[in-house]
Amino acid sequence: MPIEMPDGLPFSVDTWTAKSGRKRHHFLTHAHLDHLQGFVANSSHPVYATPITKRLTMLQFPQVKEELFVEVEVGETVLVRDLEGSFSVTVLDANHCPGAAMFFFEGEFGNILHTGDCRLSSECLKKLPIRYMAMKGSETRLDYLFLDCTFGRCPFFIPSKDSAIQQVISCIWKHPNAPVIHLACDYLGHEEILIQLNRTFGAKIFVDKIKFPQCFMSLSLTAPEILTEDPSSRFQVCEAFPRLGARAKAGIAEARTRVEPGSVFIRPSAMRYAIGEEDDCSGLERDDSGVWRVCFSTHSSREELEWALKLLRPRWVVSTTPVCLAAELDYVKNHCSLEALATGDGPIWRLLGRMAEQAVAAPLTLFGKARAVEEKRGGEEVDVGFSKGFNPGLRRLYRSMNVPVPRPLPSLSELLDGSRRSRSGL
Ligand SMILES: [Zn+2]
Repeated sequence: MPIEMPDGLPFSVDTWTAKSGRKRHHFLTHAHLDHLQGFVANSSHPVYATPITKRLTMLQFPQVKEELFVEVEVGETVLVRDLEGSFSVTVLDANHCPGAAMFFFEGEFGNILHTGDCRLSSECLKKLPIRYMAMKGSETRLDYLFLDCTFGRCPFFIPSKDSAIQQVISCIWKHPNAPVIHLACDYLGHEEILIQLNRTFGAKIFVDKIKFPQCFMSLSLTAPEILTEDPSSRFQVCEAFPRLGARAKAGIAEARTRVEPGSVFIRPSAMRYAIGEEDDCSGLERDDSGVWRVCFSTHSSREELEWALKLLRPRWVVSTTPVCLAAELDYVKNHCSLEALATGDGPIWRLLGRMAEQAVAAPLTLFGKARAVEEKRGGEEVDVGFSKGFNPGLRRLYRSMNVPVPRPLPSLSELLDGSRRSRSGL
C-alpha cells in the first residue's frame, strides 16, 4: 500500500488521494492496482510514468487522457521545474513487473530514492547510481530511502527469480506427456516466466486477451513473439483466482478416469510463504489439489533488503508497506536513529524538523494512513519499541518514521530544539 510523501516534498509517488492531489508533481512507479487507488478521481497533470506503465494504466482506466502523462524511460534523468527549486529525477529499473520503475530524486530537499515495488537483486543494484554506493572514501549518501519491505519480515529463503523459473521448467520437463500446461501467470510481473518457457520449449503461449487483458497487453508490448491466438496451445495462461485448486483437482480426476495423462497446473507465487501458510519456499512442491507451487517473488527477500541497505547506506529509511516496518530491518536498527539525525545538518534534518512540527500540530499526518493501519493491525497495537506513556502525537511521529526509540525516551522536540540551539551557537 503506497504511502503519502511528507509535506515538505513537492511530489507524490503512487498515491492519488485529495491530499496528494495538492502536490505539484506526481509519479507512478507501476500499474499494479494497489498503486492506482483513487487514480481517476485525484490524478492531476503531470503524472510521470514509463510508457508501459502509462499504457497499462490507460487500459485499466480508459477514461483517462493520454496527455495526463509525461513519459520517462528507464535510465533517463529529467529535470522537473518547481516554484521552490527545480529537481532532477532519474528513472531506474525496479525489477518488479513490465514498466516498473524506481525514482531517484535529487533537489533542495536532499537525495531520495523511492523504490515503489521492487526486487533488489544484485543485477538490479548494479544499475543504481554508483556515486551513492558505499565505497572507500565516498561521502555522498542517500538521505531518504522509501523502501518496499513486503518480505522484510519473512524469515525464509526466497529463491531468485531465475531459480524459481528453473523450477517451473523442470516441473514441465518431468511431465512430457501432459497435454496442457496451465500456468497461473495472469498477474503483471509473471511475464519473465512465460518468456523463459517460450525460449526453453520453443512453444508459443495462449493468453486469452478478453480474460487477461493486462497480461496480454504487457506481453504484446514486451514479447509479442511468444503469444499465440490458438486456444489449443499446450501452454496456456490461466487465472489463479478463483478456485485454481478445485479446477486442477477436477481436471486431474477426469484424466485419470479416461486413463490419460493429466494436465499440469503451476502456480508461481510467493504470497502463501510470506503470510506464513508455508514455511519452506526453497523448492517445487505439489499441494493437496495437485497444483505445483513455485515460490516466485517480484519483491525483495529480507536478505536482499539488508544487502541493498548496506550498499546504499541511507540516512533514513521508510517502509512503503504496512506489513513490515523499516525498524524491523537490522540496518535501520543499527544505523538510523533520531539522535544521530538531531545532531546532524542538511536537508534531511530540515524535512524531519518540519515533520515534527506537523506532528505536534496535527498528530495523524506525516506518512499518512498506511502507518495508522499498521498501528491497528489485527486490532492490536504494534509495539516498535516505545513507551506506552509517551505523548500520542509524538508516538505516532516515532512510529511513522520507523524509529526504534531508546529507553528512557527522549523528547523529540527537545532533541530538535537542542540541535537547533547548538547549530545557532546558543
Ligand atoms: Zn506491485
